[in-house]
Amino acid sequence: MAKTTRIAVVTSPGLTHLVPILEFSKRFLELHPNFHVTCMIPSLGPHPDSTKSYLQTLPSNIHSILLPSINKQDLPQGAYPGVLIQKTVTRSLPSIRETLKSLTLREPLAALIADAYAFEALSFAKEFNFLSYIYFPSAVMALSLCLHLPKLDEQVTGEYKDLKHPIYLPGCVPVFGRDLPFPMQNRSSDAYKLYLERSKGFSNGNGFIINSFLELESAAMKALAKEKSCFSFYAVGPITQKRSSSNDGDEELECLRWLDKQPHSSVLYVSFGSGGTLSQSAINELALGLELSGQRFLWVLRAPSDSPSAAYLDNQKKEDPLKFLPSGFLERTKEKGLVLPSWAPQVQILSHDSVGGFLSHCGWNSVLESVQVGVPIITWPLFAEQRMNAVLLVDGLKVAVRPNVGEDGVVEKEEISKVIKCLMEQDEGKAMRKRMEDLKAYAADAVKKDAGSSTHALSQLATKWENFSGIEDNN
Ligand code: UDP
Repeated sequence: MAKTTRIAVVTSPGLTHLVPILEFSKRFLELHPNFHVTCMIPSLGPHPDSTKSYLQTLPSNIHSILLPSINKQDLPQGAYPGVLIQKTVTRSLPSIRETLKSLTLREPLAALIADAYAFEALSFAKEFNFLSYIYFPSAVMALSLCLHLPKLDEQVTGEYKDLKHPIYLPGCVPVFGRDLPFPMQNRSSDAYKLYLERSKGFSNGNGFIINSFLELESAAMKALAKEKSCFSFYAVGPITQKRSSSNDGDEELECLRWLDKQPHSSVLYVSFGSGGTLSQSAINELALGLELSGQRFLWVLRAPSDSPSAAYLDNQKKEDPLKFLPSGFLERTKEKGLVLPSWAPQVQILSHDSVGGFLSHCGWNSVLESVQVGVPIITWPLFAEQRMNAVLLVDGLKVAVRPNVGEDGVVEKEEISKVIKCLMEQDEGKAMRKRMEDLKAYAADAVKKDAGSSTHALSQLATKWENFSGIEDNN
């Protein structure tokens, strides 16, 4: 029997961090079953049921360890979710170290793979003698920004959003300061300081495993590999869930049955990810814009909040979101649309034959899921690095349209209606769909069993880890 090689994985709190790194682990183990993965999971507050039920679906060669949870009261109140996530990991470092110690006492580990927010765990590599990597669950372009940030921080004075010219990252589409990730919008904020610290901390590892694929971002990937040759880069995506989890079986069935009755490629799916929320005025404009467009839609709606990432780390059931819709909206649009409260089985919806467009907050998983089924996008970025993803989709890949945002930060109903019609009806939208279809084919090729570029990258990693005999020998 082949020898088992052991690796460890560290996530950061929240299902949207846990799922990508464990889906990567699953994919890796499917192709390389002679490996075993131990996953350490920090948590802010008690580990949520959604985490526990997801862990139950894992194969037996992934062992997960729920680390002692961090008390919410011990962290800064009202901080940006990214800061809370980062601080939770920092406070979990002693238990991560203890776990690594007991694991390596039993048997050596070949590698540790940390989620981007868990970058501090890379520092244990020397002590316990394993290779270490960041699993970067977003675009190569976003990674390129992180790796260039320490230099940008030195070179740029003032706020990035006030720069008159775009920032040119090698091999990437130019991006204006206002479209840089949320923490970069205010350089004196804690979020920015942590973002910069994280970017610097990345350099403690041996390389980066990225959930993108060569054919999607080849110029960015080549430029990084050339310029930052002290690291290894592995594009292993797209790795996404095969099925979305569902909160309520009946609602899932209801929306899929509703889609069955709609014409081919006629429905716009509207969703802002696992935690994105809109303000009340944005909900009003979006509702009226959907109505004005006359197109069919399936909208996953959350109760409003003035903080776009309000629901991100919050597992509480909120009040009924439907009561925040403009008066009479549901009645007037009942022939054309369906509104689902808070959560929907996204993967099943996007792959349904009647879905022809996706109005998305451009979270990277949503982007990849849309690429995999060839559905073009209307970009509605809210937080994190979503604006940058929107720039990549619109200016770089030309598979999405971006509405103009009004001076008050809200997109007006007429503009919403215009971009919906553009995507769903007009030649411009058809051209975007065609390009998305091409990307869909490339995405499928990348993960092909023998010849795919991402499959090849995973094999390179497996060979490296199997042959690993200690940090000293590897340098
Ligand atoms: N998702 C889902 N149903 C929903 C909302 C989101 O299944 O109603 C899934 C979606 O398919 C994706 C993930 O949650 O896999 C969202 O990840 P993404 O990176 O797009 O955004 P985030 O939640 O991190 O903002």
